Amino acid sequence: MSDCIFCGIAARDIHGRIVHETEHSLAFLDVNPLAPGHTLVVPKDHYARLDDLPDELSADLFRTVDELVPRVEDAVDADATNVGINNGPAAGQEVEHVHVHIVPRFEDDGGNPIHAVAG
Ligand code: IMP
Repeated sequence: MSDCIFCGIAARDIHGRIVHETEHSLAFLDVNPLAPGHTLVVPKDHYARLDDLPDELSADLFRTVDELVPRVEDAVDADATNVGINNGPAAGQEVEHVHVHIVPRFEDDGGNPIHAVAG
């Protein structure tokens, strides 16, 4: 979709700090991170909401998330991660292209896990 930021990053028309990609999915650093290493994983094709995503792309997306969680934790020496999706504007989704947040967490970082993804 031409006016979608994440489509622009996937097409390499907009700069993104890309950390990993598969045939169907792309991972890049969040431009406004909630913690060091905050990573977004998106389908390369445009789907607004999780429920719009075909099964094959959903499987690739979550396989990619599963692979990246330990790598992100290792990269920033995190103790845990919040992994989540804001699915729809009423849930805090600001970019209307499905994306999974991987937010590194640290012992005693004082964050609220419920609010970590919504920001
Ligand atoms: P949402 O509230 O779940 O839709 O999260 C959108 C996320 O996209 C926020 O964490 C933003 O910081 C992030 N974001 C917005 N624009 C860009 C960008 O151009 N590059 C990387 N991350 C972005």
